[in-house]
Amino acid sequence: TISTTAAQPQPPFPFTSSPAIPPQTATLPTTSAAAPTPSIFGLDALFHNPVFAGGIGLAGLGAAAAFGRRALIAGAGLLRRQLLVNIEISKRDPSYNWVLAWLAQPRDNRGFLASRLTRLRNLSIVTTTKSLNPRAAVPEGDGGGKIHADFRVQPGFGRHIVRHAPGVYIAVNREKAGTATTATGEPHETLTLTMLWMHRHVLADVFTQAHALAQSFQQGKTVVYTARRMEWAVLGKPRLKRPLGSVILDEGVKEALVKDVKDFLAAQQWYTDRGVPYRRGYLLYGPPGTGKTSFIQALAGELDYSVAMINLSEVGMTDDLLAQLLTQLPEKSILLLEDVDAALANRRQRDPDGYSGPTVTASGLLNALDGLAAGEDRITFLTTNHIDRLDPALIRPGRVDMMVRIGEATRYQAGQMWDRYYGDIDEDHSGRERFLKRLDELGLFGGDENNPEVPKRHTSTAAIQGLFQFHKGDMEGAIENADALIPRTFEP
Ligand code: ADP
Repeated sequence: TISTTAAQPQPPFPFTSSPAIPPQTATLPTTSAAAPTPSIFGLDALFHNPVFAGGIGLAGLGAAAAFGRRALIAGAGLLRRQLLVNIEISKRDPSYNWVLAWLAQPRDNRGFLASRLTRLRNLSIVTTTKSLNPRAAVPEGDGGGKIHADFRVQPGFGRHIVRHAPGVYIAVNREKAGTATTATGEPHETLTLTMLWMHRHVLADVFTQAHALAQSFQQGKTVVYTARRMEWAVLGKPRLKRPLGSVILDEGVKEALVKDVKDFLAAQQWYTDRGVPYRRGYLLYGPPGTGKTSFIQALAGELDYSVAMINLSEVGMTDDLLAQLLTQLPEKSILLLEDVDAALANRRQRDPDGYSGPTVTASGLLNALDGLAAGEDRITFLTTNHIDRLDPALIRPGRVDMMVRIGEATRYQAGQMWDRYYGDIDEDHSGRERFLKRLDELGLFGGDENNPEVPKRHTSTAAIQGLFQFHKGDMEGAIENADALIPRTFEP
């Protein structure tokens, strides 16, 4: 029994399959004869059409929004130009680091500056390390010297908002400037400060405070610059000023040097009036560890100068580089050229380790001292351990005006150093007498003319300092172990 209904033919579309419902004839409104004034183009009908009208409305709204947006952007740009101040600081500018340090400075609890760090959410760390007592006279055992590290927080790259005072905000943007690099090979950076035009007066505050802060870091300190590639860079952190009294040279030597430098500094007008370059050169020579570098550092502290130091035996130092560095010597600094004999030795010979790279030549050094590149105002100190290797042309007024030998420890120096270390516990100076007598017996002040039995020896102030530091507060120990001052000779 197969149903026949399935085989029934279906009525073709658009007829409904159910004959019970009458076919629909009109679903959309049409232009019927009922319309009062029919338009030729049918536009009215178009506008009466809700779909079309809705579309027009939407398009209109969209256009208005786009226009509004553009107007807003233009307006904001205009406002920004009219109402905001931008100040861009390049990494090459000295104020760059001051402002960075100022931004990261935790301040008082009134909230303004104290909140600065908490507002800066993107920070970076600058770490400076130094090994403690790197040039200690006492050997540091297996060489594992202690390292002291300092961490300083800085605003990282990106945007920051800083509240400077109630209602005064500064937007800070720190960014890397493309692929450009500084002369030291680091990526170039800029710092942009943005603030309301009406707050522009705070800019002066910002820079004054940042500068004062930078100076406070250096108060009582001596800044040491060294050559890093083509420019001067601050070596480590500024060091505490070394008191002149802590450097003990032979009787009268220090006083004569200090007086000469101070007289020179006081006589600038004299040089200007006579058209003479305002320069003075000093050569300190003698064996290592006798206080040459320490003296120059202490002198810089005394004069409130910094030290700009170049080691001429350094790999990669050339005549051109030396001349270039001298043209941009940091302000108010003593130029210190160490190991000047390196420039004058015959470096065309290969070193035993195969190094024969470029170095400073004798003429390069002479030019640097008084040639065209020499610059005008300057105090130069040259040091060498080998006076015999120097070119006589170097020692000429204008290049070197004063030559001082800083030699092995004398009786006078040993006594002075004793007083600095044990003066407070050796009230009647009997300890000092015994110590000096012991050094006499050991022949450490050049032997004894009247007694050929006593060996002719010398010791250095660095070695004496080492002995006293080893026996801190223990003068008997220092006397007992004075034979540690006998120079050790290393012979294979
Ligand atoms: P140089 O430059 O002559 O080689 P340094 O000045 O570098 O010697 O001295 C090395 C170390 O010895 C330093 O720690 C320094 O404090 C100490 N020293 C050497 N000579 C003296 C001195 N005359 N007075 C005080 N300290 C000295």
